[in-house]
Amino acid sequence: MTNQPNSGSETSANMNRFCEKCGISSVEPGYQTPLCANCRSSLVYRPVLSYIVMFCGIICVLMLISYARRGRRFRVYIANERASRAEASHDYATAEIQDKIVIKAYPFYDDGFVRLAKDSYAHGDYAETAYALDKLNGHELDSDTADDLNQIARDLDAKHHSFKRRVQQ
Ligand SMILES: [Zn+2]
Repeated sequence: MTNQPNSGSETSANMNRFCEKCGISSVEPGYQTPLCANCRSSLVYRPVLSYIVMFCGIICVLMLISYARRGRRFRVYIANERASRAEASHDYATAEIQDKIVIKAYPFYDDGFVRLAKDSYAHGDYAETAYALDKLNGHELDSDTADDLNQIARDLDAKHHSFKRRVQQ
């Protein structure tokens, strides 16, 4: 006890006090913080335990995220498959619905918007086509796709102007 950094009077004061945490047991001698032996050992073990709990929590969260992502990828895969099948049978209304599922999950997926533009155009849902073309505006696309979309855009423009002329007459 004599080799402790605190003065002799403080140490003897601690001996008389009760534990700061539980208030029942008497203070363990030889330490600066007035705690009983039980409370001191529980304080030593608690940080280790909370790190383990935190670690498990992080693992759980990561697993949930990867599970959710896999679920989303799977839904998008199914939607793409359904869109392809609908396109093959010229059911562009269904294809358009599936395209919308894809772009909702991946709002920065250009191929999804290309598909939506073509399917909605084939379906005659020109507002959706204009929306998809607008999303792709300024993006880099391969020349075939760009040609197709420009053709659609020109046709939409022509439709729009003939509509305006009819309204004005
Ligand atoms: Zn205690």
